[in-house]
Amino acid sequence: MDKIISLCKRRGFIYPGSEIYGGLANTWDYGPLGAQLKKNIKDLWWKTFVEHRLDMVGIDAAILMNPTTWEASGHVASFSDPLMDCKSCKSRERADKLVEKWAHENNSADRPRHWAGEKTPARDLLDFITEKNIKCPLCGKCNWTEPKSFNLMFKTKQGVIEEEGKDIYLRPETAQGIFVNFKNVLETTRKKLPFGIAQIGKAFRNEITPGNFTFRTREFEQMEIEYFFDPDQSPWQEVFEQWKKDSMGFIADVLGINKQALRFRDHEKDELSHYSKGTTDIEYKFPFGWGELCAAGAYRTDYDLKQHEKYSGQKLTYLDPFTNKIFTPHVMEPSFGADRVALAVLLDAYHEEQLEKDETRIVMKFKPQLAPNTIAVLPLVNKLNEQAEKLSLDLIKNYRLEYDTSGSIGKRYRRQDEIGTPFCLTFDYDSLDDNAVTVRQRDSMAQERINISALTTYIDSKLYN
Ligand code: ATP
Repeated sequence: MDKIISLCKRRGFIYPGSEIYGGLANTWDYGPLGAQLKKNIKDLWWKTFVEHRLDMVGIDAAILMNPTTWEASGHVASFSDPLMDCKSCKSRERADKLVEKWAHENNSADRPRHWAGEKTPARDLLDFITEKNIKCPLCGKCNWTEPKSFNLMFKTKQGVIEEEGKDIYLRPETAQGIFVNFKNVLETTRKKLPFGIAQIGKAFRNEITPGNFTFRTREFEQMEIEYFFDPDQSPWQEVFEQWKKDSMGFIADVLGINKQALRFRDHEKDELSHYSKGTTDIEYKFPFGWGELCAAGAYRTDYDLKQHEKYSGQKLTYLDPFTNKIFTPHVMEPSFGADRVALAVLLDAYHEEQLEKDETRIVMKFKPQLAPNTIAVLPLVNKLNEQAEKLSLDLIKNYRLEYDTSGSIGKRYRRQDEIGTPFCLTFDYDSLDDNAVTVRQRDSMAQERINISALTTYIDSKLYN
């Protein structure tokens, strides 16, 4: 992980947040390459699940929502984690995560009684942690308070005068923006079941133990789908299996993450969220152990629409045009975290290769469509800058491109390898005569002479095959 954090800083993928003021713990800012990489992931997600499907539409709802939303959804009452204080050094930890970390480090299948992740009863968590002598990561003592429930929603005030303002929350998930717009979308798009509504946007959770770089932060981006269906027409198990397949297809095939580092994990019955009848995560093998990348599918039943109907007094039902049946649709939810997916993409792309003369090359083997830059144009010497820049301006209309003139050509290749650019185009003296450039491929380092007029066909054939 340290190698990735250092490369991200060095090359401009991800910087520590507010760095010039000494930072703000566990906040991260995406630099030019990271912002482009995350955008490419989000664009591919939107293309795959919204633009290329007949049964999906997208929305972009507000982060601030009427606070009753969060009472209806159950977040005010039960969106919490077990917080434990170390009596010796006063540091705070999430009890369920201490157990998971201990199990990973000791390669043990032992778990507390009534184990249900963050929903394990407080007494069982404390008994287990005491029995196994699980120590405070900061001071090394095992001297814990009983876990207390801590609500993860960020509360703020709306209004000009703080004291008079209304309590309001930063949304902890994008999903509720979809549920409260169900009626609007249904009426304006006239979609027939089954259909889905997708949304990409920021979510905020006051996590007790953020960390592992961008894996767990307090501000992050989600890419969520609520897929509405009639359980009498489409059994939920079938919808569930289809979404597991589609979600894994996106991660493994569209983004090209190594399948060996991916697995499904079904939630245990007592681990399920208050609304869910079945949830399967896709996990990635992070350097710190297996961790949730996304929920491939969570069967939320008709819980959310029914709750919003109850709290808002508005009808959120569906009239089947063929049978005239009026009912509340059920929902399947695939939910991806853009930052966690981007972290997995970065970790998966990282390769160190041994070259001749004890030289090591670091290369980010992103799938070409995902790479922040598709092409780098490198004039061999400064005298050729004018012609190389002209070529860059032609190509930049169709490709993400970097124009790099500084340093030896070998150093420039290394830099492009480290930022994962699939094609380097070197413009040399011969280019003036033969109207061709040398194309170097990132992964094989093979070089070919390609005529400038044939470049687009050449690159497209490699990009989309
Ligand atoms: P975890 O068990 O890791 O806390 P979760 O089960 O609470 O995650 P969900 O509510 O299912 O997460 O959210 C869907 C997705 O949003 C997750 O799979 C993850 O990719 C992302 N996500 C959730 N919390 C965070 C966070 N604190 N930082 C970054 N991404 C997050």
